[in-house]
Amino acid sequence: MSYLVLARKYRPKKFSEVQGQFHIVKTLQNAVKNNQIAHAYIFAGPRGVGKTSVARIFAKVLNCLNRKGTEPCLKCDQCTTIDRGVNLAVSEIDGASHNSVENVRDLIESFRAVPAGKSKYKVYIIDEVHMLTSAAFNALLKSLEEPPPNTVFILATTEPHKIIPTVTSRCQTFDFKKLSVDIIFSELQKIARLEKIPFEEKALKLISRLAEGSLRDAQSLLDRVRAFCEDKITSEQAAKALGVASDELLGELVLNIFKGQPDKAMQLVNEIISEGYDITVFLKQFADILRWSSEIRFNASKEDLFSQELKTAIKDQIMKIPENNFMDLIFEGLYGAD
Ligand SMILES: [Zn+2]
Repeated sequence: MSYLVLARKYRPKKFSEVQGQFHIVKTLQNAVKNNQIAHAYIFAGPRGVGKTSVARIFAKVLNCLNRKGTEPCLKCDQCTTIDRGVNLAVSEIDGASHNSVENVRDLIESFRAVPAGKSKYKVYIIDEVHMLTSAAFNALLKSLEEPPPNTVFILATTEPHKIIPTVTSRCQTFDFKKLSVDIIFSELQKIARLEKIPFEEKALKLISRLAEGSLRDAQSLLDRVRAFCEDKITSEQAAKALGVASDELLGELVLNIFKGQPDKAMQLVNEIISEGYDITVFLKQFADILRWSSEIRFNASKEDLFSQELKTAIKDQIMKIPENNFMDLIFEGLYGAD
């Protein structure tokens, strides 16, 4: 059987499985409960945070034949066909590759002609809607101005400011948030356990930080690391697989900076550059390590990024720096990285 990527395998299928978008899920569930379904929604937010998943779940809840409160049953004909992407009453298109006025007209006309069958609502999901041309937006606007009955438009976008105001004003907008490192980490842990992948917590923490708030990116990174690691996923191996500096190496760098040893610090920086690591990613990692160091300075460290030995060495060193000087150092480091 072909390998199903983790992001697809673990895509949330009902509202309770959606992570980190509590306010949106709650509002949509209330709309279902009170039967106050808007004609059009904008799902705005960064990539990989659940916009399309929530759109599909919403389509299922609207059409499920055996709804459990405000959740889809996942078993009926409607739920299963929507999950497989073959439900005729739910049309999902990619705005990036279908951005012309003809595309939008075709979509609306052909979809209008489709019999609703057992579906209560027809749902249009247009992904990357900001890619539509202005003529295409105007064609869409016509449908939003006079929405066909029992039709819901869900416009997903990473760039909501590019949607014309006349469209925005006819939609209810939801702003999806980036996911926290903690939420991503706990999801990755869950997945690794279900997949029976042995792992070091530090490795999954590294992936969680590198994903920058996108669960889908985190899952793809885990796919890559899993393919690279032969047995257990260690932080060392994960860093190698992803082509980034390991936390241990970054820790050494920070230690040398705190020790006031620029020559050794530069030597490590050169090592990092000569390994061909992406310098932007490196600077972000460096900013993370500085933040983490400030936490151990004030005894608020939540996690262990390094070996005990290195952690103690860094802590000993930074405790020697007066508080004011230390804060200057941290801010300079963070400013430099941004
Ligand atoms: Zn169902």
